[in-house]
Amino acid sequence: MIQLGEHHFSEYLSAATIQDKVKELGAAINKDYSSEDPPIVMALLNGAFIFAADLCRQFDFECQLQLLRVSSYKGMESTGKVIVDHSAEPNMEGRQVLIIEDIVDTGNTLAAYLPTLETKGARSVRVCSLLLKPDAIQHDLQIHYLGFEIPNEFVIGYGLDYNGRGRNLGSIYSIVQ
Ligand code: 5GP
Repeated sequence: MIQLGEHHFSEYLSAATIQDKVKELGAAINKDYSSEDPPIVMALLNGAFIFAADLCRQFDFECQLQLLRVSSYKGMESTGKVIVDHSAEPNMEGRQVLIIEDIVDTGNTLAAYLPTLETKGARSVRVCSLLLKPDAIQHDLQIHYLGFEIPNEFVIGYGLDYNGRGRNLGSIYSIVQ
């Protein structure tokens, strides 16, 4: 059990369980991409930075990795307003794009962002997310590579924060109500 501010969190996915899943996801992604047609891999910041760092080291193909700042969350709530730093986007014309997300919750972020990739000429767009909250999602989204489905509860660790804290934890922790 750990405490951040007034909230307590208990371990939900251990670091070892997460690392096994990262290897599994990496193997699945390796089947779909090759260095002959290298994808642009875009990790959505801040939350996905640790997952993306582990996952991209499983890739056996060449890739162009771009970190992209996207935000919609404040504290424990999705604000519904998605802000994307488009200035960091590379030229996607004719390219395959793989998006790396930490968690899909309402789906607002991907629902707002994915359509913009096609207008920028991306040839294909796939999504890899470590976590998905099926009971929270409000959009019809295809997650091509998914780590874990989790209950609709606030989680921290492995890149995910509570007001900037907890990102450095190796395991994922769920809030204790
Ligand atoms: P969505 O747009 O799908 O509602 O949420 C996407 C973003 O909200 C995620 O990339 C993540 O940054 C944040 N988020 C959603 N659920 C959680 C959660 O349980 N814990 C934390 N720390 N962030 C979350």
